[in-house]
Amino acid sequence: MKMIVIAFIWLKSLKIKLFKRRYDKIRQGDLMDLIYNLNINEIEQLMITNNEKKYKAKQIFEWLYQKRVNNFKEMTNLNKKMIEYLDNHYLINILIEESKLISQDGTIKYLFKLSDGNLIETVLMKYDHGYSVCVSSQVGCNMGCLFCASGKLKKVRDLSSAEIVAQVMYLQKELDATQQRVHNVVIMGIGEPFDNYDNVINFIKIINSPFGLALGARHITLSTSGIIEGIKKFSELDLQVNLALSLHSAIDSKRSKIMPINKKDHLELLKPVLLAYQKKTKRRLTFEYILLKGFNDQDVDIVALKSFLKGLNAYINIIPFNDINDKNFISIKRNDCYYFYQKLKDNGINATIRKDFGNDIAAACGQLRAQREVKL
Ligand code: SF4
Repeated sequence: MKMIVIAFIWLKSLKIKLFKRRYDKIRQGDLMDLIYNLNINEIEQLMITNNEKKYKAKQIFEWLYQKRVNNFKEMTNLNKKMIEYLDNHYLINILIEESKLISQDGTIKYLFKLSDGNLIETVLMKYDHGYSVCVSSQVGCNMGCLFCASGKLKKVRDLSSAEIVAQVMYLQKELDATQQRVHNVVIMGIGEPFDNYDNVINFIKIINSPFGLALGARHITLSTSGIIEGIKKFSELDLQVNLALSLHSAIDSKRSKIMPINKKDHLELLKPVLLAYQKKTKRRLTFEYILLKGFNDQDVDIVALKSFLKGLNAYINIIPFNDINDKNFISIKRNDCYYFYQKLKDNGINATIRKDFGNDIAAACGQLRAQREVKL
């Protein structure tokens, strides 16, 4: 038994060593790209440039996203020359699992190390209807929301599309062991997606591709802090992706206190943009509302919400604030959330209360990374 354990540890460390060697190659610029960066059109272009048939791109996509291989050598219907080319120029796996915390409720929080040593978080949540993955889109975040652990660690850099795709693929490969699949993806982890617009949109196209993971657009949700230019551009795309907006208060002075973006993209400017978005997309909006005891849970807040929501097809997703280490706010009880929820209902406002996930494992977005960065 002891020998088996030793052999297992040795194999694992060998795998990490080989993996790191390939990683170093990216840093030295020896490898051109990360394959998950490429959408189907770009892989088609790659085939044409290499005098290969265009349809081979679909085969590569199938290997990557449907058969979910970890090695180009497993792509057995490609010729040897193409396999060698891909192997010499591209990398599939790019995340190193630093830690994995499993909550009593089944939520799993992953801390991944990137090729440059930066850390990101990804969360796997189990709902009644299936698994949902919450991905990060940046290392850190510049939006500075007062209630958010990520906002306290400034943005270091944007994530590439591949680094966002890899988060979904890593978790999907874990689920493959029990023949489960990712049903929903929410871009709601560390980072502001519209501050990394091109890479995030490319990521959506890749996971949405029918030749790839084929995750329906309606199963993808992008959450923004309310960057007006991003919402406008996003409206122009013919995607059926859900849009969520972190509102947290419909009173400008309060919202500006907790979300610096509101000083520039304030509610008066935001409202017409949201109306135009809805006119164009016909999609229902979600307003995230982190309930902060004594701050945005008063009658006056409900009156403001009612007025802001006029003309919009939207609902409020109440998120109970739950961070015992926060100096600015205190955690709110579930009962207070129900009280607020009922008051919204009484005022004709559609609302839900978000289910608590992983409260016992550094629950709030960015907490795990923040804790680790402080320790390092
Ligand atoms: S809540 Fe989102 S946008 Fe605000 S600081 Fe945190 S990660 Fe950034």
